Amino acid sequence: MNKFLRYTFPLIVVVLMSGCTSHKYAATNRVYKKQVRSFAKLLRTYPIKDSFATATPWVGTTNFSMRRPSLVVIHHTAQKSCDETLRTFTLPRTAVSSHYVICRDGTVHHMLHDLLRGHHAGVSKWGGATDLNSSSIGIEIDNDGSEPFSPDQIGSLLRVLGYLKRAFNIPQANFVGHADIAPGRKVDPSRRFPWQELARNGFGHWYDTVGVKVPEHFNALQALRIVGYNTANEKNAIQSYKIHFVPQDTTKVISEADRKILYSLVGKYQ
Ligand SMILES: [Zn+2]
Repeated sequence: MNKFLRYTFPLIVVVLMSGCTSHKYAATNRVYKKQVRSFAKLLRTYPIKDSFATATPWVGTTNFSMRRPSLVVIHHTAQKSCDETLRTFTLPRTAVSSHYVICRDGTVHHMLHDLLRGHHAGVSKWGGATDLNSSSIGIEIDNDGSEPFSPDQIGSLLRVLGYLKRAFNIPQANFVGHADIAPGRKVDPSRRFPWQELARNGFGHWYDTVGVKVPEHFNALQALRIVGYNTANEKNAIQSYKIHFVPQDTTKVISEADRKILYSLVGKYQ
């Protein structure tokens, strides 16, 4: 190896390697940047262009900020690898995305700015809120739906959730699963998802039924609605509640134990 190569070869290798790692999604990264630029351009419009403005000259208010997410929706990818999910979220024809993808080894991909609208919730409802894509952050956990969630993955998830809770002042009750907001249509994250551990860390609530005495007039279905579930279809609502809070029970009926759980939960979610 001559003197020139001896000094430049390592540099060439580094340049080539960094080129390789960014190459795979370079084209879709350009699409991302182009779309972000077009939204930024729209926000810079002055005066605001809409069909309602009748007054001239235009008067802009001095008091505003960016809209912020107020809900976090957790999913499992139902795919075999993070690579598969990254590919899905960079193919325009799939029309789906999420803000974060968390791989089995704990790697976090932040695919979309938190202030932009992801396409992860679909037709959904939580409490009185609809169009949850507009108000939520979507987090996809790399998991095929039948396997356990890895400790590294949950560790990373807790760190992301902590950041989101602080950054956007998201209430503890507003950390939910896709199944919670789309009963009968979605079942993710699966029954193996550690919701109790999340609640212990301040993301979503958990119940305590020790010594709980449920009043006779207590309406369990109404409690489900107060927690946030869309109860238009009772069986579907009960199924989503069980996936989250009583994962070992695959029935769609409210038992005495459920009445206690819901009585405890309703006090935390109302
Ligand atoms: Zn989902």
